Amino acid sequence: MAAPGYSTNLEKHNLILSRLLDVSLVLNLNVALKPILGYIMEAACEIALCDAASILLYNKNSDELRFAASNTPGADTDALQKIPVPMANSIGGQIVRENRPIIIQNADEDPRIYRTVDESIGFTTKSLLGVPMHVKGSVIGVLEALNKREGGWTQDDLNNLTILASHAAVAISNARQTEALRKANEELNKLDKIKNDFIAIASHELRTPLSVILGYASFLKDEAQGEASDHAAAVLNSAMHLRNLIEDMTNVRLLQGKIDLAREHATLASLIQAAQSDLQSLANAKGHHLDVDLAGGQALVFVDRSKIATALINILNNAIKFTPNGGLIQVRIEQRPEEVWVRISDNGIGIPSDHLEKIFDEFHQVADHMTRRHNGMGLGLSIARGMVEANGGRLWAESAGPNKGSTFILALPFKASQG
Ligand code: ADP
Repeated sequence: MAAPGYSTNLEKHNLILSRLLDVSLVLNLNVALKPILGYIMEAACEIALCDAASILLYNKNSDELRFAASNTPGADTDALQKIPVPMANSIGGQIVRENRPIIIQNADEDPRIYRTVDESIGFTTKSLLGVPMHVKGSVIGVLEALNKREGGWTQDDLNNLTILASHAAVAISNARQTEALRKANEELNKLDKIKNDFIAIASHELRTPLSVILGYASFLKDEAQGEASDHAAAVLNSAMHLRNLIEDMTNVRLLQGKIDLAREHATLASLIQAAQSDLQSLANAKGHHLDVDLAGGQALVFVDRSKIATALINILNNAIKFTPNGGLIQVRIEQRPEEVWVRISDNGIGIPSDHLEKIFDEFHQVADHMTRRHNGMGLGLSIARGMVEANGGRLWAESAGPNKGSTFILALPFKASQG
């Protein structure tokens, strides 16, 4: 005999299978939660041949159930959502508490039915099949089917609604995770803004007193005699170091936004010479030989001079810093088919191969921050790469390993310079 509502048993099974399949497909489409749950309610009624279906979720804080979806005829889902269902005096509550399905073939006189919901929406619960919904082993709510149209609830109904309940649980769990991620992201953005504002204000506020210190220290150094002049020079050096740190902080902020470029045609030689003159005295102080060969330097590039100068200075500054006294630092220019390369090599402490890329990350330093002997914040190379890339170029490092020296290659597009 065919099941009630279906012409044959085969037709019934086909319809149920295709409906369950539809639900899985909708789940995978990543549709918003509300329509997915609505779809699952429709499928529940169609498969179990009943009048209505609802999903109630357990709220741990208030220890009650709340409607998340329902297709009860004539009921306004928004109104339903406002009706709390107590855990103690309801079938839903019992299903969640006992973590098991409950079937009520005749609900007419059953005292466990929470009648407040029926009364407020003008519905009469005549029979009920409810199954718990699980996420990661814990019960998060219940799926209830109401008022079987013909005959009583069957084992098939129970099995099919259990499948639908697990689909609904997956959809709810996904939606909760997405919401948690959205919130975390919002929180991160807020923190990022606070950090950026803080850096902006701090660097701005530090600049003014620092320029006073720099001015007076430089004046004292020139005017004072003997030891006093040495002391003033020490103050001046430290103040200049502080100024570099503040510049780094400002440049990092710049990289996070869109960099405005003031591009112009410039020879590579002029850019390299400017960086060299900035750092020559620092190199001399460490007894380094700064060997700059400008052959090929007449190549024109179309760049923002100050941004490329910052990159060159940061790379050269590192070469000076990470090479023991009396080292050799070489700068060479190399023509490539579409690019012009500046190679800056030193015979210093070198870079382990697994750090060659990481050193371009913000705040990454090869040596542990607490034990390192060199000052700096680990920002110079990320700034250098950001500036070079903003100008359409590339920057990378090569090294044969610790104590084998390092080479930084700054590549700028050559063809663009012809334009
Ligand atoms: P900082 O110099 O402030 O530490 P950078 O971003 O400029 O920050 O450099 C990151 C790290 O890369 C340095 O701490 C250092 O470990 C490594 N590094 C950079 N340049 C060289 C170099 N020429 N030789 C050896 N190591 C280097």
